[in-house]
Amino acid sequence: MYTREQTRVVRVGDLYIGGGHPIVVQSMTNCDPHDAQALIEQVQALANAGCELVRLTVPDAEAAEVFAKVRKHSPVPLVADIHFDYRMALAAIEAGADKIRINPGNIGSEDRVKQILRAAKAAGIPIRIGVNSGSLPKDLVARYGVSAQALVEAAARYIDLCQRCDFTDLVFSLKASTVPLAIEAVRLFAEKYDFPQHLGITEAGPGELGIIKSAAGLGGMLAYGLGDTIRVSLTGDPVREVEVAYRILQAYGLRDYGPMIVSCPTCGRCSVPLEEIVAQVSEALKEVKTPLTVAVMGCAVNGPGEAREADIGIACGPNGGLLFRHGEVIAKLATDELVPRLLAEIRQFSGRNILC
Ligand code: SF4
Repeated sequence: MYTREQTRVVRVGDLYIGGGHPIVVQSMTNCDPHDAQALIEQVQALANAGCELVRLTVPDAEAAEVFAKVRKHSPVPLVADIHFDYRMALAAIEAGADKIRINPGNIGSEDRVKQILRAAKAAGIPIRIGVNSGSLPKDLVARYGVSAQALVEAAARYIDLCQRCDFTDLVFSLKASTVPLAIEAVRLFAEKYDFPQHLGITEAGPGELGIIKSAAGLGGMLAYGLGDTIRVSLTGDPVREVEVAYRILQAYGLRDYGPMIVSCPTCGRCSVPLEEIVAQVSEALKEVKTPLTVAVMGCAVNGPGEAREADIGIACGPNGGLLFRHGEVIAKLATDELVPRLLAEIRQFSGRNILC
């Protein structure tokens, strides 16, 4: 299996995808593709949140003109998302797209796909080919059903077509309607091909539901060592997608995204208002970008162990608690001293001014 260290490297603007480079976090704008100002602002907001690659839909010629304007203002590379009309891919390449995303299954004839490949090659930009369980070739569905094998066979056809055009600057995404099928398709693809893969759980849904589905799906893929770029799809503000993507990657130790809180669920042994303490610590850490682990634990059962493992931690007890730094107890504190001292300790680490 080709894990992320072994995939080919694809350059997108000043970014590298694959070959063990850090997993690139992407998102997609959701405002009107004809509103240049709204797009410029949303791209900037996404970049401010840490998004490294932003995708814009280009459904018509007017949107391609707007894309060119947005590209001039964008601090990050932009991907043009193309469906149905190959001429929009050509227009987006002309407009300065750093990468094109197509689903050849809805572009039409082979000749049209070839025209896109030729234009991308001339511009020196890569293409992401998205294969979706909802738009598989009919003969593959008849033969394999809607399955991981059908998704990989569809990808194989596009690889063959691209190779015949001497175009190999490719990233693939295989998406399916259910999490187990999506994971299986990504795994099966990596058994055969060393092209970098873009991970996503399509139509994950709103809020918490979408986050849970994304974490379950993307986590399953990441755990195999797969995935070179990632997007979390949530209904709503795309800026939220960026934070969730980083948090998932952070949980796997694959990217840093500021402080991580480790806190216990509390139980009958807990004698302090732990939820309140955790909320205070979370609030204070919001602006801190330093990657550090902070443990906030409710009692002596698992508290000292977890607090010792963290960069900074507190293990509470009935009459106060212990403050840890890098595995050592540095203070025995009364209950009302715990939070202020913990925050002072974090402040020292981060060099930032945190208000208690
Ligand atoms: S650390 Fe203590 S309070 Fe927290 S869940 Fe474990 S036993 Fe309960």
